[in-house]
Amino acid sequence: MSKVILVTGASSGIGKYTALQLIREGHIVYGAARRTEKMQDIVSAGGHALALDITDAEQAKAIVRQIIDAEGRIDVLFNNAGYAVYGAVETVSMADAQKQFDVNIFGLANITKEVIPYMRQQKRGKIINTSSMGGKIYTPLGAWYHATKHALEGWSDCLRLELKPFGIDVVIIEPGGIKTEFGDVMYEPMVERSKGTPYESMSNLLSKATKDMYDKEGALSPPKVIADLVSKAIRAKKPKTRYVAGKFAKPMLFMRKWLGDRAFDKIIMNQVK
Ligand code: NAP
Repeated sequence: MSKVILVTGASSGIGKYTALQLIREGHIVYGAARRTEKMQDIVSAGGHALALDITDAEQAKAIVRQIIDAEGRIDVLFNNAGYAVYGAVETVSMADAQKQFDVNIFGLANITKEVIPYMRQQKRGKIINTSSMGGKIYTPLGAWYHATKHALEGWSDCLRLELKPFGIDVVIIEPGGIKTEFGDVMYEPMVERSKGTPYESMSNLLSKATKDMYDKEGALSPPKVIADLVSKAIRAKKPKTRYVAGKFAKPMLFMRKWLGDRAFDKIIMNQVK
């Protein structure tokens, strides 16, 4: 059956690909992001594009209202908008750290709060949250990003329990390395804020490794692997609590689960030597 779906972060990468795939699968899809001009392909494919800065609570309220007015319901919220602030804790300004939480956690929470009352009245709905393998593992220079994704894992687990009595499923998606704009948004500011600090060489190594991966054909997984998981979670009568896909995700999560902290630290630090 056709669902009414809101996809945040639909102007690029995972969100855009997923929105287009869900339209092809016959759903009514609303994409939301700041760069509406980058969602014209969604409109051409038969979907809708809504302007949203996820940190703006009034905008979040207005777009959910707009969907309800037009469709009378909202079946799925795919909370996907997000980005990564990288850099040593010592070098990241508290304003940048705050912004990271404002987008990846508080913005996501805000739009979720707007959707819940409608899903509760409907007695059904799915909230699908894009965490990351980074919601379970960690890297140097990634403290603020990983803090948001680790927080999202716990937040989503709590939400799953409290929404279960109302027939609302909460699903966590844990992507590995996916070829999107994610790397571009992350590494340049990291290199900039690390210049002339004791973290400069580590930052340059991490930036080069990331850039090489994003540039090299086939080194990362395409967004389709995540779109397929989202589609699967939407179709499932009883979705899993977590879905994992994308480069490195399964081996990394396996090692994190079974190795001690010190052994895992060594594996991670070997990547930035
Ligand atoms: P991307 O290509 O950079 O897309 C990020 C999306 O988030 C864009 O559509 C962007 O739209 C939106 N966004 C960012 N800040 C926003 C804001 N303030 N308000 C509204 N929208 C905002 O990256 P992606 O890889 O597809 O990322 C999607 C999600 O996957 C993120 O949550 C990310 O943490 C997660 N993830 C990615 C990877 C990976 O390897 N790519 C791995 C694990 C997890 P506008 O700029 O137009 O607003």
